[in-house]
Amino acid sequence: MASFSDVLATANAIADLESASSILSWDQETYMPSGGAPWRAEQLATLSTIAHRLRTSREFKELLDELSIEARNGAASLEPWQAAIVRETSKDVERSLKLPEEHVGELARETARGHETWKEARRQSNFSVFAPSLGRLVKLKREEADYLGYDADPYDALIDLYEPGMTMTVLRPVLERLRAGTFELLDRVRAAATAIDDSPLYQRYDGDKQLAFARQIIDALGYDFGRGRVDLAAHPFCTTFAVDDVRLTTRILENDLRSCLFGLIHEAGHGMYEQGIDPRLARTLAGSGVSMGIHESQSLFWENMIGRSYPFWTWAYPQLQSTFPETLANVGLDQFYRAINVVKPSLIRIEADDLTYNLHISIRMEIENALINGVLDVPDVPARWNALYEEYLGIAPSNDAEGCLQDIHWSFAGFGYFPSYTIGKLYAAMFYEDARRAIPDLEEQISRGRFNELLAWLRSSIHFHGKGVPAAELVNQVSGRGLTEEPFLAHNRRKIDLLYT
Ligand code: ZN
Repeated sequence: MASFSDVLATANAIADLESASSILSWDQETYMPSGGAPWRAEQLATLSTIAHRLRTSREFKELLDELSIEARNGAASLEPWQAAIVRETSKDVERSLKLPEEHVGELARETARGHETWKEARRQSNFSVFAPSLGRLVKLKREEADYLGYDADPYDALIDLYEPGMTMTVLRPVLERLRAGTFELLDRVRAAATAIDDSPLYQRYDGDKQLAFARQIIDALGYDFGRGRVDLAAHPFCTTFAVDDVRLTTRILENDLRSCLFGLIHEAGHGMYEQGIDPRLARTLAGSGVSMGIHESQSLFWENMIGRSYPFWTWAYPQLQSTFPETLANVGLDQFYRAINVVKPSLIRIEADDLTYNLHISIRMEIENALINGVLDVPDVPARWNALYEEYLGIAPSNDAEGCLQDIHWSFAGFGYFPSYTIGKLYAAMFYEDARRAIPDLEEQISRGRFNELLAWLRSSIHFHGKGVPAAELVNQVSGRGLTEEPFLAHNRRKIDLLYT
């Protein structure tokens, strides 16, 4: 007779191996000398091989199957959090078993190679250097979709890796309405007489002071430094070693005030999510954010819904001014607020504003979907990319580096990941409406730098559940509806009405 504690022992061991891998990866991005790279690759491969062996062992599968039947029958012996661990672990094991070992190995080799050819292609700004790798990666991911299974669209199987349960059938109509609404708002911006001067953001700002200020802000928001830390890295990210050790990285640009500050608020949003998960789920596959879309909703909630809001800067701006008196003394709160909310079509996704960002995602999704469905050939990617930028944003890249080579995602075969960003934005705006309903004086609290009631609401509504409640169900619990573009468009419409007249 299988017992929960038998399952938990192996589940803990798998989670520990993954945490150890995370530590190695974090170190690689922060402190490791470049000479360590090939050794680190071997160390990571060894850990993932051991984890894969544990996942796919016969005994573990039998234990899980037995307990899964109990969990599905609602056996009284399993508490809901225990049933969640069994369910999430089973799902993970089943997925591992569906993928043949040769496929996993080949994909690992191709992504390692793909990453190198992508870097080189980007350096030369020449897509054809990356194209053969991309072709092999597309083929492998198409095969993976077949191994994993899908109903209508092979791309659904890949979205499901990041946003379990989400399909193009659900997503497509939402994104079409979002795009139409975005075009309408962009027309208003273009027609407006107002030109916003955002040059104050691009003066020289001392790096140490930027970091100290950003740390002070995320501390006030509720990121727990007793159970986390911040280091510098080329690409900002959040990584979890344990529920009580959730780390962030950021980068500093001395001539761009946005990068360190908004980057760190964003990562702290991810971090606060991970720090708030039910500790009983810790050291298992259920003890992390439920989906990439929900994860992004938490980072974007803090970065955009709070961090780019007027109430927030009513509180924070005097502190920022006193940190940089020589640059900001003559820049008023209103001017600063306008500057951080500029809407301007641009070529680079990570520099895009809140509104036009989704168009960058739409373009990537359309191309990925066409590649995975075999209706677009790899050599035609740059032309399709440029045509879509012209059509959606009214601008076209002049070379591949600022076009289809700008993102790392395809080099690690992350097809299906991009939708999470837009899903996260839409959820963030939905949750903000819910938070305002739950906390009637929310904006008043924010304008006084009080975030504890808001964080407590996010904790109990979202964070605490970890993977205990599936993403779509969680959204329904919190918002009483499924994914919708309306709150996001309404939020941006209000801003544009205010800023562009
Ligand atoms: Zn993020």
